[in-house]
Amino acid sequence: MSLAEFEIIAKYFAAQAGERTDVALGIGDDAAVLDVDPDRKLVLAMDTIVAGVHFLEDADPFDIGYRALAVNLSDLAAMGAVPSWMALSLSMPAADERWLERFAAGLFELARAHDVHLIGGDTVRGPLVVTVQVGGWVENDRWLTRDGARAGDALFVSGVPGEAAAGLALLREHAASGAAVEHLRARFLRPEPRIALGRALRTRASAAMDISDGLLTDLHKLCAASGCGARLEVERLPVSPAASERFDEEAWLSFALGGGDDYELLFTIPAAHAAELDSKTLEGIGVCRIGVMTESRTVECFHRGQPFVPASTGYDHFAKP
Ligand code: ADP
Ligand code: MG
Repeated sequence: MSLAEFEIIAKYFAAQAGERTDVALGIGDDAAVLDVDPDRKLVLAMDTIVAGVHFLEDADPFDIGYRALAVNLSDLAAMGAVPSWMALSLSMPAADERWLERFAAGLFELARAHDVHLIGGDTVRGPLVVTVQVGGWVENDRWLTRDGARAGDALFVSGVPGEAAAGLALLREHAASGAAVEHLRARFLRPEPRIALGRALRTRASAAMDISDGLLTDLHKLCAASGCGARLEVERLPVSPAASERFDEEAWLSFALGGGDDYELLFTIPAAHAAELDSKTLEGIGVCRIGVMTESRTVECFHRGQPFVPASTGYDHFAKP
């Protein structure tokens, strides 16, 4: 029997992770939080991207380098942390200098934008696989986790989830260029880690995570970690003017609910403070109230008041066929 991603981690790794008391938060969230400094916490995350899985085989190496760091910074954003360092492990079939130059340009463009310093790594021959580990800091008093949501909290999302999946669909079909197509492709190729938003949410949100596998899948994870459920009002999801030029409502909803790669933040705000954020921008990023957390322990979707069954729910690397 094949195991799902979370079952593999739970059974073989989390169960015997260790006993150290300086691990303030270990496996199960977007990043680990370590107690190594009296004044602040060290936050570490690691993500791997694989050719043909996380980026197209013929992708521009600039975008591969950018993405390898972006997906990691997104995990730090989800903790409310400030990034500082990265380590890079690179497996590639051959040392192609033109490829390496573009790859490094993409990686360091984003690294410079966030003042991230490359501190080490590993370089081997093999299939094209890029692993980045990032480290950063968060204040001692509060950081963001997936497990703090409570029934009654308002559920929010940043940006426009679904645009990245729409962009990937257009890349796959080699759609002709145009403003809408360019916008959507860029949302897939150059996700913007929401570091400043995560910092702003650090003292406001009861729970947060980044959306990497799809809004619904990741909402299930947030609910499971928090021991509650959610009611999602599908018609409240942010609309993409660019995507509505290219896709019908059914296709768009399947991108918005099930498409991954958005790297937006999904977060909950205690009811008393939800109105202050509703349809506002925070650090220049639109945030949208899309539902409410419930006691039910399930995620229920409604569309204009009617129960709604989504066509696609998200991504699991080891999902059973
Ligand atoms: P994210 O998408 O936010 O990076 P993942 O879904 O990849 O998170 O992982 C969920 C949690 O499981 C994270 O805390 C991650 O560090 C941990 N994890 C994933 N793979 C392993 C592994 N092989 N060993 C230990 N922990 C793991
Ligand atoms: Mg994450």
